[in-house]
Amino acid sequence: MVVTSSEPDAIIIGAGIAGMYQLYRLRELGMRVQVFEAGSDVGGTWYWNRYPGARFDSESWSYGYSFSEELLQEWDWPEHFAAQPDTLRYLRLVADKFDLRPHIRFGCRVSAAHFDDTSGRWTVILESGEQARARLLITALGPLSAYTLPNIPGRDSFAGQAFHTARWPHEPVDLRGKKVGIIGTGATAIQVIQTIARDVGHLTVFQRTPNWAAPLHNRPITPEEQARIKASYPEIFARCRETATCFIHQTDPRNALDVSPEEREAFWEKLYSEPGFGIWVGNFADVLTDPRANDLASAFVAKKIRQRVKDPNTAEKLIPKNHGFGTRRLPLESGYYEVYNQNNVRLVDLNETPIERITPQGVLTSTKAGSEEHTFDILIYATGFDGVTGPYDRMDIRGSGGRRLRDDWIDTPRTFLGIQATGFPNMFMVLGPHTARGNIPRNIEEIVDWITGLIRYMRRHGLVRVEPRPEAVDEWGRHVEEAVAGLLFSQVNSWQTGINRNVEGRDSVRRTLGYYGGAVAYRLRSEEVATGGYQEFIFG
Ligand SMILES: Cc1cc2nc3c(=O)[nH]c(=O)nc-3n(C[C@H](O)[C@H](O)[C@H](O)COP(=O)(O)OP(=O)(O)OC[C@H]3O[C@@H](n4cnc5c(N)ncnc54)[C@H](O)[C@@H]3O)c2cc1C
Repeated sequence: MVVTSSEPDAIIIGAGIAGMYQLYRLRELGMRVQVFEAGSDVGGTWYWNRYPGARFDSESWSYGYSFSEELLQEWDWPEHFAAQPDTLRYLRLVADKFDLRPHIRFGCRVSAAHFDDTSGRWTVILESGEQARARLLITALGPLSAYTLPNIPGRDSFAGQAFHTARWPHEPVDLRGKKVGIIGTGATAIQVIQTIARDVGHLTVFQRTPNWAAPLHNRPITPEEQARIKASYPEIFARCRETATCFIHQTDPRNALDVSPEEREAFWEKLYSEPGFGIWVGNFADVLTDPRANDLASAFVAKKIRQRVKDPNTAEKLIPKNHGFGTRRLPLESGYYEVYNQNNVRLVDLNETPIERITPQGVLTSTKAGSEEHTFDILIYATGFDGVTGPYDRMDIRGSGGRRLRDDWIDTPRTFLGIQATGFPNMFMVLGPHTARGNIPRNIEEIVDWITGLIRYMRRHGLVRVEPRPEAVDEWGRHVEEAVAGLLFSQVNSWQTGINRNVEGRDSVRRTLGYYGGAVAYRLRSEEVATGGYQEFIFG
């Protein structure tokens, strides 16, 4: 069955920040656009991730859309790092203000997209079996939208309530006085743990890999700050454009190894006491590239953890030993370490006592003496996402001649600028693999504007088909690999290097999923392609 009465010019999958903005831009071109979104509302990440304590690590006022001065002046961010309900409220406002909803069909998960060479059109197939066709297909699936449950025997046998953080219920969950277990200690888990620890009766944290975390230092935005922020948006966004990660934080040009121990310590104390990601992406230039500088930074943060956690044994368990500071996505925290000083919180190190299985009552871990059953009312899976390529792998995407994207990307993604793949004509990815990433809405706006520019060019020149030349894809792939070489994070297992032990086939071989030459270099290269007349593409 065909879902749309008249054929749209473009189909967009996803109504998060990326899909909404792409819709806005294509509508400006006078195009008919159909968006399909699996959720029941706009917002993407901020629609799905409703767990207690969910919030940004980006400064709120650097995260919002920059395209509308009216929107910038109308919206007040309540805190420097906004909580999920406020961000969702903001994105709903955007949808209403720009009248986006009439173009979006909610509750529609796309299971497949097939390109037909004869008609030059994509057929998009929904889980319901309904179909829609359009010449252009834009995937705005999100880098962190394919959530993963832990691969633990007995998972479905638990008799209490169990939630993945990315599918937290819309109705409030009463945690007061309950016995709660949480599996995972990544950025999301840290936000949950520090938020619920005081309310629950007892909390058991199951930790496989501790993560380095540093203080967020969030606070409300005062009326004076609000006025200052609104008056300085051009400067804020200009600053984001200058940095490699599109955050307001610029890497310090000094090397940690070139300054005195006193100067180093003073700088790190300053960064540790300041809000946001400064300690990660505004640190000394060599901290994320030179193992010796990284060891010193790790020792500094380990010292902080030891100072904050009273029990030395627990502190040691919370200090990562298998990766250096900042080599995985850095969680920012608000009182996380102090949680372990509470009597109602227990840390279970799964390296010492691995989980055997989940039981109807809770979690069974093996101990030297035998096994121990931890019983719970509520079990929380903070087990993250199959990052970046996960949402693509979960769809059956077939390009020209039935070529399957999943097969093409089995070892590593192959793209040009992370936006198009050879053999998949007229399919454009917003924030696909091999794009620059950091403070993500800044990257999204640039990529959407670039895709819109290419589509405008095609319409002006009467072109109906575009895909990148294979040699351009090869060249970009080589450049992506060159750019990541020398970065310490590329030698560490994490979702950012494509490792997820809960996903079959993605549990051991690292892949490069982003472009790490920096947002400035990415922008220069994409602008060069556009001003050069898109020579890297084959048009039809
Ligand atoms: C907990 C959490 C905290 C984060 N914090 C930050 C932060 O501080 N700073 C930052 O820059 N980024 C952060 N991120 C990353 C965040 O994902 C991006 O900032 C941004 O929201 C991405 O927008 P998007 O539109 O690209 O993707 P999403 O917001 O993920 O939207 C994608 C949409 O596509 C839909 N979709 C996917 N597949 C299908 C399908 N097959 N059919 C139909 N619909 C589909 C999904 O339902 C979803 O609504 C965070 C992510 C998480 C999960």
